[in-house]
Amino acid sequence: MLITAVASLLAAALIGVQLFTGGESQPTTATGPENEDYPPVVSGNGPALTESTPTAPRVGIVAGHAGYDSGAVCPDGLTEAEVNMAVAQEVVALLKRKGYQVDLLEEFDDRLAGYRADALVSIHADSCDVPGATGFKVARVTDSAIPEAEDRLVDCLYREYEAATGLPRHPSSITDNMTNYHAFREIDYYTPGAIIEMGFLLDDRALLVRRPKLVARGIAAGVVCFLEE
Ligand SMILES: [Zn+2]
Repeated sequence: MLITAVASLLAAALIGVQLFTGGESQPTTATGPENEDYPPVVSGNGPALTESTPTAPRVGIVAGHAGYDSGAVCPDGLTEAEVNMAVAQEVVALLKRKGYQVDLLEEFDDRLAGYRADALVSIHADSCDVPGATGFKVARVTDSAIPEAEDRLVDCLYREYEAATGLPRHPSSITDNMTNYHAFREIDYYTPGAIIEMGFLLDDRALLVRRPKLVARGIAAGVVCFLEE
């Protein structure tokens, strides 16, 4: 944690200079297959096109627990972190195809300090030890500086994720860990942020593990809903 704090301070002192993004902390972002499929481009003139521009929307996608820990773990060894990453990479690919500028971020990514974007979504999944529990939920920080925008982001994610996956909403299990999520305290006040728990690793496992592209479509559509509707 100390190392993270020091790195965050350094990164904050170097806002705009992405020196800390090319290091060892993001093995899957710079060289992953999703980047080979959708290389960054620098021309074009609108978010509806397939090329990104400096004015294209910027979106941050946090692959929950990446670079930090495993998150929830199932008895057979399936980890929340690997489920989150598979979906996060698909979300990034989908949004890049929309022409957005997209950052795939780790749980305690140095870039989160003062992060400025049109939206930030952190992707998580729920525990593997609650038999009978099914469903997803979305939350934003409690004391938001931009409650209208963040409520709209949350609403868009609820609506589109529900439509794509058919999963029920499970708002009764929203915890302080979601509404006080650490990244909400690190990013710029005016970056709309939300966290989604995509489903439960026990009863929703088939969907989350076998259909990551479908799950990702729900999240990406929620972001597009927020930015374009
Ligand atoms: Zn998690």
